[in-house]
Amino acid sequence: MEKPVDWTTGHEAILYQLCGACGKPQYFRRGFCAACGSNDLVEKRASRKGTVYATSVVMRAATQETRAHVPYNIVLVDTEEGFRMMAHGATSLKIGDAVAARFATFAGRLVPYFENST
Ligand SMILES: [Zn+2]
Repeated sequence: MEKPVDWTTGHEAILYQLCGACGKPQYFRRGFCAACGSNDLVEKRASRKGTVYATSVVMRAATQETRAHVPYNIVLVDTEEGFRMMAHGATSLKIGDAVAARFATFAGRLVPYFENST
């Protein structure tokens, strides 16, 4: 597979795959659909909008690079497109909040960062 043009390669975009056979979205890029096994996948750009499914505020940094960011929030977001993704988010976020992602730099890398949408 070609490299994605998304945040994992330093571009301000969140990509996902949509299955042409069963219509299911998936966030983790694979050569086949995790739901039905089809390889009829189309790469799409996500709206960056969703709802908070879970939050986990990190109080103790695992590495030197992340220590400057403590406390930070790792959130699971159910996106508008129907896939679930893990990302950074504002520490004030609560389960069920409507959110939208911008991009931020975390420990030297570009990452999606969810905040309350209005
Ligand atoms: Zn499928």
